[in-house]
Amino acid sequence: MESNETGVGQEGPVRLLLAAALAVVAIGSFRRQKRVLAVLSGAGAVALGYAATAGSAESQAGPEARSIEPTSRSREMRCGICGEPIVSGQGRRPHAEYGTVHDACLE
Ligand SMILES: [Zn+2]
Repeated sequence: MESNETGVGQEGPVRLLLAAALAVVAIGSFRRQKRVLAVLSGAGAVALGYAATAGSAESQAGPEARSIEPTSRSREMRCGICGEPIVSGQGRRPHAEYGTVHDACLE
């Protein structure tokens, strides 16, 4: 039950954060007279804010459909070489080109 709740609410907050970040950029750009950037990022903030609101409404309507996938899937780390999830206990290391990878995949 607990994992379902976090899974459903995951996308909305991220989009809201992005929207907030874009809004900050928009305000900062406007103050520095960069009007084009201000307009673009402002529009992005509005679009993301709308998507976040629409997304959460949608997930409230159909939580069953969205809870099929394991909650941890979007949060878990994935190997940049084989694409498999890296679970705790597996050897892993940062790689300059692939991000985080399995120890085994480097050999
Ligand atoms: Zn791997």
